[in-house]
Amino acid sequence: MKHGINTIDDFNVRGKTVLLRVDINEPVDKEKNRLKDLTRIEGCIPTIKELSDKGAKVVILAHQGSDIEYQSYYDLSLHAQVIHELTGKPLEFVPDVCGPYAQKKINELNEGEIILLDNVRFMAEEMTLFETKLNLTFEQQAQTLVVRKLAPLADLYVCDAFAAAHRSQPTLVGFQQVLPSAMGRLFEKEYTIISDILKSPKRPCVFVLGGAKIQDAFLMMDKVLKEGTADLVLTGGLVANIVMVAKDIDIGKASEDFIYKKNLGECIDMARQILYAYGDKILTPVDFAYVEDDVRHEVAVGDIPQDKLLIDIGAKTIARFEQIIHEAGTVFMNGPMGVFEKKPSEAGTKAIWEAAADTKGYSVIGGGDSVAAANLFGVSDQIGYICTGGGALVRFLSGEELPVVKALKGAAN
Ligand code: ADP
Ligand code: MG
Repeated sequence: MKHGINTIDDFNVRGKTVLLRVDINEPVDKEKNRLKDLTRIEGCIPTIKELSDKGAKVVILAHQGSDIEYQSYYDLSLHAQVIHELTGKPLEFVPDVCGPYAQKKINELNEGEIILLDNVRFMAEEMTLFETKLNLTFEQQAQTLVVRKLAPLADLYVCDAFAAAHRSQPTLVGFQQVLPSAMGRLFEKEYTIISDILKSPKRPCVFVLGGAKIQDAFLMMDKVLKEGTADLVLTGGLVANIVMVAKDIDIGKASEDFIYKKNLGECIDMARQILYAYGDKILTPVDFAYVEDDVRHEVAVGDIPQDKLLIDIGAKTIARFEQIIHEAGTVFMNGPMGVFEKKPSEAGTKAIWEAAADTKGYSVIGGGDSVAAANLFGVSDQIGYICTGGGALVRFLSGEELPVVKALKGAAN
């Protein structure tokens, strides 16, 4: 038991059928039919191996998103191959989620054997309950088909999907209502590390916030400044552009319009309120970069053209941020500094990610694209902790009780 949640140590799993929910949602290269990054799969390998080594009958449940929002989900055959290679154990991919074929395969398992069921998002209930405002109770989640069909075949539910801990969905919160439940080793590790950082970060604690999917970034910024977790917030990416507008500093019409086009207009109001309370702790760039015909141009604040999208931080800002990061006790990074996927606008993210790799302090990177950037720039090994979760991490740091944590705690009582 740790953090009020059962761990694998609390159960004797030999001969037991264990439903193991993992988050192995990875970027997929559709043309080459392969997975582009394996960070999350690698993360849950220790739990899979341990359960199998201890003689459990392991039934893995997982989802894979798609590149088009909520359409054309991939099956998990590619993932099965990777898990097989990384565990060095035989593993059967079962192209069914909870129908008669999946049930038969589960019943036929022997000690130590592993199967991977198909993408749980093929199930309508998993999908319709996903990020909707239905707000079903955990008890209602337990009434879904997948839980009703699979729970009776199992002895234990283990959740290792920390990256999905902010989602209230049948396979993430339903089984805890009807089965003994535990968190897996990756979940345990990630939850422990971020809880510790939140409780007692080494000072100064610097948050570096950027990126483009940032609805939650300002909630988090507010919380970590209010609680005193963050001593300083460095901004890049669209976060910086928004804070600049909130400060009434001209970033050009094109960049300002882009914020509204992305439906991030209300973030400007949030940023205003945060600035009012903690303005002295939030640093914005002093220069930016835009790209024209594949050529990078840098401009100082005050000279920003009206018709150019600001897609990276400039050299002066980089130098200033680097120095702060080098001297930090804790550096937490979520969201890249610019459009790092393109060469002319990679400099900001590359330099800041390298600074985090070199810092004397403890560095944490979370978020799918942020982790991809760490891999791209070859700094992953020098980062203190690479979090598999983006949304989960941000919501946790915003002070939200994560649904999966709540369900696991409930099951331990
Ligand atoms: P993460 O996945 O790490 O949480 P986000 O998904 O929030 O990060 O943001 C990543 C994306 O933000 C990247 O695809 C990057 O190209 C984009 N981005 C970064 N800076 C800007 C910017 N100034 N304007 C537009 N897009 C940006
Ligand atoms: Mg992202």
